[in-house]
Amino acid sequence: MKTVAFNTLGCKLNFSETSTIANLFLDNNYSRVAFNNKADIYIINTCSVTANADRKCRQIIRKAVKNNANAIVVVIGCYAQLKPKEISEIKGVNVVLGANEKFNILKYIKDLDNKQAPKVISCDVNDVDNFFPAFSFGDRTRSFLKVQDGCDYECTYCTIPLARGKSRNDTVENTVNQAKKIAEKEVKEIILTGVNIGDFGQSTGESFTSLVKELDKVEGIERYRISSIEPNLITDEIINIVSSSKRFVPHFHIPLQSGTDTLLAIMKRRYNTELYKNKIETINKLIPEASIGVDVIIGFPGETDEDFNTTYNFLNSLDISYLHVFTYSDRENTLSNNMDNKVNPKVKDERSKMLHILSDKLQRRFYEKNLGQEKEVLFETQKKNGKMFGFTDNYVKVELDFDKNLVNNITKVQLLSINEDGNVNAIIVS
Ligand code: SF4
Repeated sequence: MKTVAFNTLGCKLNFSETSTIANLFLDNNYSRVAFNNKADIYIINTCSVTANADRKCRQIIRKAVKNNANAIVVVIGCYAQLKPKEISEIKGVNVVLGANEKFNILKYIKDLDNKQAPKVISCDVNDVDNFFPAFSFGDRTRSFLKVQDGCDYECTYCTIPLARGKSRNDTVENTVNQAKKIAEKEVKEIILTGVNIGDFGQSTGESFTSLVKELDKVEGIERYRISSIEPNLITDEIINIVSSSKRFVPHFHIPLQSGTDTLLAIMKRRYNTELYKNKIETINKLIPEASIGVDVIIGFPGETDEDFNTTYNFLNSLDISYLHVFTYSDRENTLSNNMDNKVNPKVKDERSKMLHILSDKLQRRFYEKNLGQEKEVLFETQKKNGKMFGFTDNYVKVELDFDKNLVNNITKVQLLSINEDGNVNAIIVS
């Protein structure tokens, strides 16, 4: 039996797709081995969100070739769609597949000899129109369910539409059937993932709201988590559904990117700070216990000290729970790539440090608000220094002495204190 190994970089969507492709191989008499082991075939699912991501992908590709020089090395994902030729020139690469072909790997590696010239099967991103359903299973306690792919927005710093194509999705009915398949595998929590999931429905004339309503009825799934949703797409109706739902957890992740309307306009984002603030306040009013995570980019071309201070003060004025801080990096074929007034790397570092400190402060404030409360936690498989970890519905990370009987079980605990790792110590309450 031939062996296959996988390595995935980037987002939850990539992990859901790798997991589905891996199951295709297992269904076709391959056995899966760890990436650091010797394998007959290596599949690398790439990310290209920053220049650093490209660099990491090239390192991983070279690692695979070093692991077994006679192996078949296949590269898929966003980097493969954006720069297929560049990847095909890396010594040892045999197949590079674009966004429309990545699920057909088995067909392209059949009878392939690794001495042959690299095969590149890709197409113009405007012709990328397939929606391949996918969900992750087997490598994590929680499952990433792909509900949407691609994006129709034109944010000036972003390459994702160039890598994944137009916004598209499967029908509500088929997506619900995917959730039912996951429920049959005794997975307790599904994380809805995609590129711009609030835009679900573009290719079927349906809506994200209708999807949420139907998923909420699926027996067996105890929790749904919305991975990330654009501010202009999180409607009051969705917030209301989450506030009364037994399954959709009180946790929102809403990209902001900048706290100044000037930069939001140059970024071609589809909202301003007023709209953003209103969404946060609506969530806080309807779901006071909700966790709210915020994406923010520092160092966008033209960002002055004053702009940064405005962003900092805006974030500090909101009742939010944590930040994901991204340092701007030029991406080819994006509008911002050609913009002047690039921010000095040292200044970017300083601003990034300041926002990471702010994020720690916000998270600590949010965790302190939850101490003393009884909360349900879904404990995961990970074991570190005799401890196990899990999240409450509102995304508080809880730590407990490892007990294998608690893995993949939703357990009621009382939240006690914040430890030096920033996690919350707890005791089980029956
Ligand atoms: S919404 Fe903007 S940032 Fe997000 S994937 Fe689409 S183009 Fe990129």
